[in-house]
Amino acid sequence: MPKPNPRHPKFPIPGGPELRTKGWRQEALLRLLENVLSVGEDPDNLVVYAALGKAARNWLAHDEIVRTLKIMEEDQTLIIQSGKPVGLLKTHDKAPLVIMANCNIVGQWAKAEYFYELQEKGLICWGGLTAGAWQYIGSQGVIQGTYEIFMRIAEKRFGCTLAGRFVLTAGLGGMGGAQPLAGRMAGAAILVVDIDPERVAKRKSIGFLDEVAPDLDTALAMVGAAVKEKRAVSIGLVGNAADIYPQIVRRGVVPDVVSDQTSAHDLVYGYVPKGMSLEEVRRLRKDGQGQLMAASRASIADHVRAMLEFQKQGSEVFDNGNLIRTQAKQGGVENAFDIPIFTEAYLRPLFCKAIGPFRWMALSGEESDIARIDDLVLEIFPENRIVTNWIRLARENVPFEGLPARIAWLGHGERTQLALAVNDLVRKGELAGPIAFSRDHLDAGAMAHPNIMTERMKDGSDAIADWPLINAMTLCSSMADLVVIHSGGGGYAGYMTSAGVTIVADGTDAATERISHAITNDTSLGIIRYADAGYEEAINAAEAAGLLLQPGATLRGGT
Ligand code: NAD
Repeated sequence: MPKPNPRHPKFPIPGGPELRTKGWRQEALLRLLENVLSVGEDPDNLVVYAALGKAARNWLAHDEIVRTLKIMEEDQTLIIQSGKPVGLLKTHDKAPLVIMANCNIVGQWAKAEYFYELQEKGLICWGGLTAGAWQYIGSQGVIQGTYEIFMRIAEKRFGCTLAGRFVLTAGLGGMGGAQPLAGRMAGAAILVVDIDPERVAKRKSIGFLDEVAPDLDTALAMVGAAVKEKRAVSIGLVGNAADIYPQIVRRGVVPDVVSDQTSAHDLVYGYVPKGMSLEEVRRLRKDGQGQLMAASRASIADHVRAMLEFQKQGSEVFDNGNLIRTQAKQGGVENAFDIPIFTEAYLRPLFCKAIGPFRWMALSGEESDIARIDDLVLEIFPENRIVTNWIRLARENVPFEGLPARIAWLGHGERTQLALAVNDLVRKGELAGPIAFSRDHLDAGAMAHPNIMTERMKDGSDAIADWPLINAMTLCSSMADLVVIHSGGGGYAGYMTSAGVTIVADGTDAATERISHAITNDTSLGIIRYADAGYEEAINAAEAAGLLLQPGATLRGGT
């Protein structure tokens, strides 16, 4: 039975033992589609997160996807083009059930303005990374990523803890909303600014924000007191970051850590320029896109100038993957890229071992399934300090949203081992239902994004999009259940290509085979991508995993 969804009553949370389809694999994908809407930011408009990231092109396309998932056989493949179902083909029962290509625009045309035009004509939609691929699990999906970034900073600069440290950031949307909880889990006093009072209220109501400050003075006083007492606290403040950050600079307050996760990537549908009300911005989105783009870019320039000033005064400042430096540079801030990107600064050594955000979702809707898998993770990876620490923290601190789910940073071999063990639990009836596995597109072998994932790669291969394409083709030939290729839309148009995958553990032998091939080949490609770029850790990992074409050889050189 679906469960009521107090946040979006029209979009109940799927669950229960009944199938509405011809098999669990189809049912799984249907539930995942329902789930991204149930936890999405604006499901009435099919928007899941990141301003414009949609689950389907329009409601007609959505309804047709649902109808097809209900009638399709296991030996058919549903083809989706930018959120619209365009064909149901006879394949075979080891082929993916769904393949998608979302928002891929030919290079010279891949600009935000042209994307908006195509979107207006109903020809395209942007799937974000995980919205169009039905893999989004709410803010919980990025909490560990954000927490690990904070902990890497704590290790690098602050004696392994952020207790007694002030973290300043902005953006409390679908993804940015994870920041206050991740900051509090890392021990910090974290202040998060958002222009939209509704977003602030939402994060407070689900417990991600402890307090909401009425004004900047009070917010800084609250932070000051918490820092003094080394007390972890998350505080929200309604305001425009392009106003608030410079005001904090002028007061001479220097946070220990500064970042931002507003939707700065999209100058029309994401970022709100200073001096404008939300109503004004909504109106300009319809009939003043050029004016809005110019105003957003000018505000982002001020926003980033303040971040650079904090950096000059000693704060640890980083770009958290929202293209804010790119927009600022185009707005005249020549040194915007003095701010490092989080992937290069903190996470690349993990990607070299294909360690990245791996997630599993309990299709039964039962939280007890996730609790059982938490125990399993602790049992089978007792030596993995990052993951055991995370699972213990997540159990205590991370509330479920939608289908109960967990995300953990696991690497090559580990992901396959866990998924096979989970499939066995499903087979033995020890879980209430099958489990779906997916991972973020921001994963070692799955994304080319020269200003986020692949910035300053060792061999200069930042903008080469072959890797995500190879990834998707490999996953199609490795029996994955859903495979998708996404490129950037809105402000991300022309900036990125990524691949996504979903695999259903339904307790069958076929699932054992799918997991063994798809998950193992996925992480293998992650290691190969970084080994090919010349990273020593990845070359060693490739050698250990038997992935080198010639034993003992590096993959470099091309001769
Ligand atoms: P969202 O659209 O759901 O939320 C953005 C928030 O920013 C909104 O609450 C909005 O009110 C606020 N905002 C906009 N302009 C503002 C301003 N000037 N001052 C203060 N607040 C402002 O987006 P999201 O899903 O939270 O994603 C945020 C950004 O993070 C996007 O650019 C997204 O692409 C990026 N992202 C990064 C990662 C990562 O791995 N680091 C993951 C997912 C998303």
